[in-house]
Amino acid sequence: MSEEIESGAAGATSTSSLRRMNRETLINLLGQRVVMTRGQMAEETGLTSAAISRITREMLGAGILVESEGEKPLGRVGRRETHLSINPTGAFVFAVSLTANRRSITLANALGEVVAEKACDDLDPSDALEFLDALAARAKALIYDADFNRSRLLGVGVSAAISTGVQQANNHDEVISHPLGWQSVPVGPRLSNALSLPVRVEHRASAILRAELKQRSEASDIYLVNVALGIGVSAHLDGRFIAAGSRGFGSLSHFRLTGETTPCDCGRLGCLEVTAAGRAIVSNLDKSNISLTLQSQRLNEAVLAAEAGDAATREAFHTAGRRLGIGVDTAIALFNPKTIILSGEVGRQPDYFAGLLDALEEAGRANANTFVERSTITSANAAISVALQEYVLTGDLNLAKLKAA
Ligand SMILES: [Zn+2]
Repeated sequence: MSEEIESGAAGATSTSSLRRMNRETLINLLGQRVVMTRGQMAEETGLTSAAISRITREMLGAGILVESEGEKPLGRVGRRETHLSINPTGAFVFAVSLTANRRSITLANALGEVVAEKACDDLDPSDALEFLDALAARAKALIYDADFNRSRLLGVGVSAAISTGVQQANNHDEVISHPLGWQSVPVGPRLSNALSLPVRVEHRASAILRAELKQRSEASDIYLVNVALGIGVSAHLDGRFIAAGSRGFGSLSHFRLTGETTPCDCGRLGCLEVTAAGRAIVSNLDKSNISLTLQSQRLNEAVLAAEAGDAATREAFHTAGRRLGIGVDTAIALFNPKTIILSGEVGRQPDYFAGLLDALEEAGRANANTFVERSTITSANAAISVALQEYVLTGDLNLAKLKAA
């Protein structure tokens, strides 16, 4: 039987792209269900058993899948069914988290489990290229020291505090980051060159949303707001993933609050970026003009002070959360998402979150607490998700490299 007939879509789509799509469907399914028989795969995907046999044979040969013998079905005679699952040591990815107050590198296996990790908070990001070279050197040392098959390392995922401007395309080869003090830094190409691996750079909000979607059995309409020193937004609407900074999506960061006069990087006054995020909280508590490094340090201290019950700090978080609530109310009106997720060290802070809910309730959304959630996913975990999605749970999985490993 030919491939085209197997897949039931002869003509328009080429064989290789069909193969790629089917491979992607199966590996994603295994990423979610963990263990499946070929029969269950056929049932879930609608692919023929011939197509499933061919794809799984190819992936078993590359070592990315493993077979195990399942339980004998009760009261039934005959052969035990073979179960398939992703081989944890079949592939590895490298993850980099770059934010103003936490920087780290992580080596993870094909299931996203951490093999080795190292904090990089001590590396100074003020000279971006020097910083990236030092980070790459540290990554090489971590890879060299870890006990794993290095030829199965497929790629690097980066979750970064990228600032979304007004006319920025969704191409993060040149990263602009106000929290890191970076202007057009070639993060992807620089790391890719130094590590000889493909690199995928994502905005932290998109990276966290990818990780959230992976955890949910049903992908619903989600609008995610990541709040740290600045604000990032990403969404999943009507089955479509919308990355932070995508054309046509805009950004909540530059939603202007009437009556606020704080100048924003975009040239206007009173944007949420400078009135409702970590930067506003820090300058509310400390009026002096301080450096970015100091700001992120202060933000860490403020989170701890609020946790310890300091009234002024808690109030500062509450006020900022309230302001974001005004912007989120508008986002709800525009996008009508089923769920709103708040993430980031500021977004998940309890007083900030309470302030946001208060503003939504004042705006007439009495049941806000039923559809606004907090995410516990960190930037480091999000970076692993980016890498897995880009290099392992994909139809473009580098099977030739794995076969040769
Ligand atoms: Zn602005």
